[in-house]
Amino acid sequence: MIDLHAHTHYSDGACSPEELFELARREGLDAFAVTDHDTLAGYDAMRTPEEPRQPEVIRGIEVTCNLHGRPAHLLGYFLQGEPGQAFRHWLELRHEQRRDRNRRLAHRLQSLGACVELEEVEALGRSMTGRPHFARVLMDKGYVDSYEEAFERYIGEDALAYVPHEAPSLDEGIARVNEAGGVSSLAHPVRLGPAFDGRVLQRLVDAGLRALEVFHSDHSLEQSSRYLEMARRHRLAVTGGSDFHGPIKPRVRLGGQRVGNWVLDELRERFG
Ligand code: AMP
Ligand code: ZN
Ligand code: FE
Ligand code: FE
Repeated sequence: MIDLHAHTHYSDGACSPEELFELARREGLDAFAVTDHDTLAGYDAMRTPEEPRQPEVIRGIEVTCNLHGRPAHLLGYFLQGEPGQAFRHWLELRHEQRRDRNRRLAHRLQSLGACVELEEVEALGRSMTGRPHFARVLMDKGYVDSYEEAFERYIGEDALAYVPHEAPSLDEGIARVNEAGGVSSLAHPVRLGPAFDGRVLQRLVDAGLRALEVFHSDHSLEQSSRYLEMARRHRLAVTGGSDFHGPIKPRVRLGGQRVGNWVLDELRERFG
């Protein structure tokens, strides 16, 4: 069993890379991928005792892109050993855009009477500060009672303080991941809503997309089988994972999607 979608506290997960590794070992996984949002720092920081490692750790990333003005997440796997300085440089530029957005988000919260300072949010964020960290500060300071309420009342896409960050198009994300020697996979397609159909997918395939995340904690069994069929029809490879974050998403367990090893074998066969 494998899990190709998990976050560490280098983005918005709760576990350190070591804790994640230990958890994966206890769950009996054969392999798992570290797919932090917009950063490789969690994977880079991973130190495990012996080589070869068991479970195997795969270098991944989850890049925030946009599709028709809405956030769309793109997974990238097997980014090469030194995955191109160009790719890392690109990530740094993205961090600057994010910091700019976060500054404006903090100001907007302050103008709504929620006293949130950029510095205290960034203190939680390590290499990638995002809205989940804002949600935690809003909770800690008693402005909201839950993580969900923070999004509903303040920072969700339809809420008052929401500020989008300038994310690259999915086409650009796909090109960057592919150029860095990675396998690009469209994450949790269900979150793209009804606008996601065969035509949109074909356009992404033409842009170089290599896989579709078929198995994910937000997908029902019916949705997963529909996405599997779509992947096959468009000759895409398949990926899958839990999208584990730790206690902030308590219903999602590492390894909870029970993704078979065939998924990884097939990725290796197709993309070396
Ligand atoms: P950011 O990239 O900083 O805009 O933050 C995006 C992240 O916030 C996503 O990856 C989700 O983990 C989280 N998020 C976005 N919308 C919601 C929501 N409505 N409820 C809970 N978490 C959300
Ligand atoms: Zn996340
Ligand atoms: Fe995601
Ligand atoms: Fe994720």
